[in-house]
Amino acid sequence: MTQKDLADLIFPNIAKTIDDYEKIYPERKLAEGAMVTRFAPSPTGFVHMGSLLASFISSKAAKDTNGVFYLRIEDTDQKREVENGIEGIVNDLKNFKIDIDEGALSRTESLGNYGPYIQSERKEIYHAFIKNLIERGLAYPCFCSEKHLEEIRQMQEATKSRIGYYGRYAVCRNIKIEEAYNRIKNGEKYIIRLKSPGDFEKKIIVNDLVKGKIEFPENDLDIVIMKSDGLPTYHFAHLVDDHLMRTTHVTRGDEWVSSLPIHIQLFQVFGFNPPKYAHLSPIMKQEGDTKRKLSKRKDPEAAMSYYTKLGIPIQAVHLYLMTIANTNFEQWYDQNKDKSIDDFKFDFRKISASGSLFDLEKLINISRNYISYLKAEEVYDNVLYWAKEYDKQLYELISKYKEYTINIFSIERYQKKPRKDYESWSSIKKNIWYMYDELFNDVTYNYQKIVDPDEIKNILNTYIEKYYNETDDKDTWFNKIKQLTEELGYSSNMKEYKENPEKYKGSVADISTVIRVAITSSNMTPDLYEIMKILKEQRIKERIKKAIISC
Ligand code: GLU
Repeated sequence: MTQKDLADLIFPNIAKTIDDYEKIYPERKLAEGAMVTRFAPSPTGFVHMGSLLASFISSKAAKDTNGVFYLRIEDTDQKREVENGIEGIVNDLKNFKIDIDEGALSRTESLGNYGPYIQSERKEIYHAFIKNLIERGLAYPCFCSEKHLEEIRQMQEATKSRIGYYGRYAVCRNIKIEEAYNRIKNGEKYIIRLKSPGDFEKKIIVNDLVKGKIEFPENDLDIVIMKSDGLPTYHFAHLVDDHLMRTTHVTRGDEWVSSLPIHIQLFQVFGFNPPKYAHLSPIMKQEGDTKRKLSKRKDPEAAMSYYTKLGIPIQAVHLYLMTIANTNFEQWYDQNKDKSIDDFKFDFRKISASGSLFDLEKLINISRNYISYLKAEEVYDNVLYWAKEYDKQLYELISKYKEYTINIFSIERYQKKPRKDYESWSSIKKNIWYMYDELFNDVTYNYQKIVDPDEIKNILNTYIEKYYNETDDKDTWFNKIKQLTEELGYSSNMKEYKENPEKYKGSVADISTVIRVAITSSNMTPDLYEIMKILKEQRIKERIKKAIISC
């Protein structure tokens, strides 16, 4: 009896060989230096900050080099799958404008010639590779029960030995072919293990693109490559898929660093070149004096839906991710304000090896800055799109008053240093609500320095009757406010007022505040002249009347 007989018994229906698959999935014809990268999540339903960063980096590296970025669903651990898990991931990527060139689109649809892109549909392919290993005596069935494995582990712990299935602990390694054959024929349960050719005393060196040179002992564990449900383990699926899909660069979390000796060995036993690896440190969060990993469970800001709901522009998220991805990006962007991320060349070697601290405030600042340079029409379209989903009232208002709203968004926008009031689409309402009569109902007025109701009434009455004129240009408008100021015994010159405050009832600033608050109920608004131009005469008169009555 030969190893081939054993392999045929285990995989009677596997006829294709590795060579066949090499032909079905040939080397990709891409330009020199083109990178083939991938995002390979489990179908857990949503993308979190850490995996968004990994997929962003992978997609950027492929785009920069005219390569291929694809999405592979890793569902060999079927316990982790959630309903609509694939669609959730596909949607998150779409929402965050991380486009895939190939990959799964749903359970039933995909894009590209290197699929299937869902691991559970690749069983036959994995089996061909495992069959080959068994034929070559490099893999074997293991009949050890969970209980037995646990006993081994306890014994190793008690004797302070290295944990794992290796050397003298790997009892099934030496079972004769005949015996294995018969036990399988008799229906005994088994899994398949790699017969590791490694020697723990020898060293290997891996050159990680982020962490640099790392030295490890060779792997000598007979790791499980096929589980009892017939599906491969992550390690084995990684080898087969990244080889056949012709991946050149793997970017993944650094929880996989310790598995590198296994992965390198798996590529070696098949004589394949391993891809280049970039292991990312986890994104951290500051909590008081300590730092901890940003947690999918504990931190709402780890989920991408948090940003969608908040209405942070996707481009701002991209800019932020780029600052985490490449330490030199911020400086480049400062010097190239007119350029976009597409013009920046990503470099794996400029990923920070120590990991980054998640900085929501920084992301919000980037967002604020980004929004300030958009055209008013672009702001409008974005807010409309966001509000449709998250704020029906705002959606209806700004749909009804489109031009009016665009004018509001134009205030102090097209200038060298535009205003940066808007940090997200959801924050806009609190900046502009007073421009809509529908929202200007139960308002309160805080006139700041001037508190006497009669004085306030007098200021407002005099202004509206004597000085307000809709057609005034900005200088005239301001001169009239100054005239009003002087007429009522206030100072129209701030410098002079500061020098001799006792000579006046107050200053021009106090007077404008009264007008501003009466018209908007807010004492902090953008340019009052521009606001009044948009509100127009009738509304201004009504509002001043309303303010006087409320005194
Ligand atoms: N499915 C693995 C995970 O979600 C992927 C790791 C990799 O990118 O190779 O962690």
